[in-house]
Amino acid sequence: MAELFIEGQWCDAIEGATREIRCPADGSLVAAVSEATSKDTDLAIASARAAFDDGRWSGVSSLERGATLHRVAALLERDKATYARAESLDTGKRLVESEYDIDDVVGVFRHFASLATAESGRVVDTGRADVVSRVVHEPVGVCALISPWNYPLLQTSWKVAPALAAGNTFILKPSELSPSTSVLLMDTLTEAGVPAGVANLVLGAGPAAGAPLTEHTDVDLVSFTGGLATGRVIMATAAATVKKVALELGGKNPNIVFADADLETALDFALTAVFLHSGQVCSAGARLVIEESIADEFVARLVDGAKAIRLGGPFDDDAETGPLISSAHRDKVEAYVAAGLAEGAELLCGGARPDDPTLADGYYYLPTILGGCHRGMSVVHDESFGPVLTIETFTGDTDAELEAAAVEIANDSIFGLAGAVWTSNAGRAERVTAQLRMGTVWINDYHPYVPQAEWGGYKQSGFGRELGLAGLDEYRETKHVWHNIAPAPQRWFSGPADSAATQDGAS
Ligand code: NDP
Repeated sequence: MAELFIEGQWCDAIEGATREIRCPADGSLVAAVSEATSKDTDLAIASARAAFDDGRWSGVSSLERGATLHRVAALLERDKATYARAESLDTGKRLVESEYDIDDVVGVFRHFASLATAESGRVVDTGRADVVSRVVHEPVGVCALISPWNYPLLQTSWKVAPALAAGNTFILKPSELSPSTSVLLMDTLTEAGVPAGVANLVLGAGPAAGAPLTEHTDVDLVSFTGGLATGRVIMATAAATVKKVALELGGKNPNIVFADADLETALDFALTAVFLHSGQVCSAGARLVIEESIADEFVARLVDGAKAIRLGGPFDDDAETGPLISSAHRDKVEAYVAAGLAEGAELLCGGARPDDPTLADGYYYLPTILGGCHRGMSVVHDESFGPVLTIETFTGDTDAELEAAAVEIANDSIFGLAGAVWTSNAGRAERVTAQLRMGTVWINDYHPYVPQAEWGGYKQSGFGRELGLAGLDEYRETKHVWHNIAPAPQRWFSGPADSAATQDGAS
């Protein structure tokens, strides 16, 4: 049974509770894991606090920290098959997708390994020859890293790698639904040479195991990836102790297609944009915003494409995408589609569970397209986090009107995580991109990211950035050191007589 990892030791939860992890593809038992309560989380915090305060990791040179992260990357490569299988069993995603994810995780550790020694500070010219002034970066301290279930290890690596690179200690709280790769990661970190107490793992439900991390005075930073509602609670809770907070929340991302785009390619990518991982992607292109003149034909072909998507479990070679993460999540997606239909959306395909009896034990839901949508509808504004695409159209008499109409629709969201523009007109692409209020914009593409570039949201998609250089800065304090190398009295105030004069007077 997988346990909690505290102070370099595997241990049972104090109250002895356990949870069964089941594969969403068929309900089969994957693992039983310990279920932490606040008592366990408090122990993990104490472990991370002590490890930070005695400098066992922050005191290690950044060169050595970088070398350790390179070793982590090499070990992940060595154990890729084990990791990928564990990720697929927890999430139900196709094995090949999990393998891609682990490749990405390796890249993330390599990126932050290389950055560990980068940008270590700078000398400031004060204009004074008697002063040495420098700005240095130091670790923030004890970090609470709270991650979701859709890309369990990948999202976790975006936090663990920079936290370690910067010299912090941490407590990781993965989603209760997908803990297996986080469990594996603890042994990998230990094998790579991360000292005991630096990396701690608590498993369990958010309110019981995660919330104490956001309340505790000994936690300095909370980095959270998850839903908007949870993000709001975490931000409010962390305010009481003025923790640093970074939030990567949801999105409702527009995929804008102009009539002058390469429509074959745009069509292909429109399917991947929304139906990859059955829509359980924070940056999913779940709003197709398409120029009216091409909408009918484009959408008809999109519907054909969606109907042809083959569903199946992680080890089904014919499957093109998998199940939703849980029965509860599928219920939410079904309620979301029902609300859209009640508001007047037209069901163009899907909108149901598959009738294939071989899929009956999994939480599958058919790729769904809703036509006739407009901005007054909840399905256009709310995130479904499932395989559901809404269609909105735009038109205009002039180029300027056309672009303005597309931008107005795309920006009309409380979210601002990502979006895409499809056009063969480079000027249009740049003009529209400049006006989109979101953290990532793809032009004639959808979904790619690299660890070298920042990732994060505008508006209620959160704040702070992961990856890039900013992703390291989230985990660093900045200190200005002013060293007066020729101190002498300043005489701002008249002050006491100097000691030489006093001694003269007394003699
Ligand atoms: P949740 O917000 O439900 O949960 C995320 C994590 O927070 C889980 O580990 C959860 O624990 C934990 N949690 C829940 N309540 C609390 C609490 N009160 N205090 C501390 N921790 C808590 O999100 P999901 O796991 O359902 O993930 C889906 C959401 O994540 C979507 O909205 C998606 O858009 C977003 N997301 C955003 C990404 C981005 O980069 N912006 C990337 C990936 C996902 P548990 O679930 O175990 O109870």
